[in-house]
Amino acid sequence: MKVIEPGQDGNIAALRSSFHVHFLFCGGTMDNHYFDHVYELALKAYDENEVPIAAVIVKDGKILASAYNHKEKDQCCTSHAEILAIEEASHLLHNWRLEDCDIYISLDPCPMCASAIKQARIQHVYSALNNSDSSNIELVEKIFEKDHTNPSVYFQSNLDSERFKQLLNSFFEKQRNS
Ligand SMILES: [Zn+2]
Repeated sequence: MKVIEPGQDGNIAALRSSFHVHFLFCGGTMDNHYFDHVYELALKAYDENEVPIAAVIVKDGKILASAYNHKEKDQCCTSHAEILAIEEASHLLHNWRLEDCDIYISLDPCPMCASAIKQARIQHVYSALNNSDSSNIELVEKIFEKDHTNPSVYFQSNLDSERFKQLLNSFFEKQRNS
């Protein structure tokens, strides 16, 4: 059976279905319970007045690294959960290549984090909540396509949306009222 490479067809619908085909063929083993850990971390961010976004990197069925958004605390625009988790995982493995790793995230990545995920060669990205910004989705899907140096990244979104959406909404409500 022919596997469609993302990017062979400029049509977005085809692109989405090719991602789906890839996901089935490569047998990604998404495990929903990792979103519980992501949620606990996002709550920590919430309590520290950071935008409640978190990430967990899984290797061989175990959590290797985890982080939550630290942008305010660090006063650093790159202190996103995904970047911090990638740094920790690379440090632990003494390897920038995270080829056997998957990442679970609370919200679709921004383009900066999507690029880092791809550069790290993480294979699967499982996102709890999709980003309502359609231009972000298009950019991220483009970044996750195969290119001349990196393989494609298998991306699934909106896998555990409700509680993460509520958490984000209540955070922004809290910010407005403070
Ligand atoms: Zn980011």
